[in-house]
Amino acid sequence: MTDRIPGFSTLAIHAGAQPDPSTGARVTPIYQTTAFVFDDVDHAASLFGLQAFGNIYTRITNPTTAALEERVAALEGGTAALAVASGHAAQLLVFHAMLRPGDNIVAGNKLYGGSINQMNHSFKSFGWEVKWTEATDPQSFADKIDENTRAIFIESLANPGGVVTDIEAIAAIARDRGIPLVVDNTLASPYLCRPIEHGADIVVHSLTKFMGGHGNSMGGVIVDGGTFDWSASGNYPMLSEPRPEYSGMVLHETFGNFAFAIACRVLGLRDLGPAISPMNSFLILTGIETLPLRMQRHSDSARKVAEFLSGHDKVEWVSYAGLKGDPYHSLQQKYMPKGGGAVLTFGVKGGYDAGVALVSNVELHSHLANIGDTRSLIIHPASTTHRQLTDEQKTAAGAGPDVVRLSVGLEDVEDIIADLEQALSAV
Ligand SMILES: *Cc1c(COP(=O)(O)O)cnc(C)c1O
Repeated sequence: MTDRIPGFSTLAIHAGAQPDPSTGARVTPIYQTTAFVFDDVDHAASLFGLQAFGNIYTRITNPTTAALEERVAALEGGTAALAVASGHAAQLLVFHAMLRPGDNIVAGNKLYGGSINQMNHSFKSFGWEVKWTEATDPQSFADKIDENTRAIFIESLANPGGVVTDIEAIAAIARDRGIPLVVDNTLASPYLCRPIEHGADIVVHSLTKFMGGHGNSMGGVIVDGGTFDWSASGNYPMLSEPRPEYSGMVLHETFGNFAFAIACRVLGLRDLGPAISPMNSFLILTGIETLPLRMQRHSDSARKVAEFLSGHDKVEWVSYAGLKGDPYHSLQQKYMPKGGGAVLTFGVKGGYDAGVALVSNVELHSHLANIGDTRSLIIHPASTTHRQLTDEQKTAAGAGPDVVRLSVGLEDVEDIIADLEQALSAV
């Protein structure tokens, strides 16, 4: 082999995987086992003491999942990754490793509705506060940070508003204040955007969406950028103070630039328990092999659908950063120049009732709460995913009464457009 650095598509197929050492199986097998036999008592002791890497129990590590973790870390340009049961589990473990009761995070307000719920409700019972700020205004993040702020949280490409966040501007504020920037990169995927290159410290994904890509398995991942100094401030004791259960080991000291991924695994995943199943790791690994092809096709078709909708007389507005003239087009050109992704929103004339009528009349599109499937998906957020929010929160999150969201699939784009055309004519 030459010392060429493999390209993204090569990594999407090969990173983290090699033929199975015991059988020669070319595809990473599904290691559908709960536990792993120790070589001997000393081996067991070194595994439990974190002195050796190896498998004990599938809640904490599994070889199929390890291949997935290594692959995603390579695609995002991180030092290590931890795969878990869902995107929400990834977010929970990230903040569990950073926050203690009374601490807070500053979060941009353009987020997936489920994340807004998770942070507004469940995080409260951990004693964690969320200070919401305007995702499109980097300075507003600086204004919200106080002495108990332990992280900033944003989405690179925000769901469902079609907003591209100015990652570098927000990363500069985080760096200046000595706190890590956590970026949810679910909608963009590392094919379109690599937040660590723009200053993010931690990346999270719902693997359920574009990474898996086929709408068949739940998963989440945490990628450690290896960039943040967990010991400098004394504010991240899970990483910077001795751990009694590991004979006084200090995780940051022992594991250096991948200590955060280790902390999420050996403290968060160990104790909170949201492990991904090996079967789901296998399905998501397989999905990732075609990520570059799929994301390019999703983006190209979404742009054509956005152009069609912009010219339609029953459509009030279209929000898609890949569209020329869109307010976020220049940020899209900077952060995700290969395309604007699959997800777009538009306003149908006639408000709430028109939105309901549209989703009731589609035939090819599936009316459901998901994105990132091979199939084209449609939803009216105000009556579904965002219905728990107040009207004010709905509008702030880009989910007002007239908003319809599409996740443009991989069917022939002419068929996708024809279905929207017939459904709009019924509104
Ligand atoms: C779906 C989604 C999540 C949550 O992921 P799950 O796998 O459903 O738990 C988080 N962030 C974004 C942007 C999402 O689209």
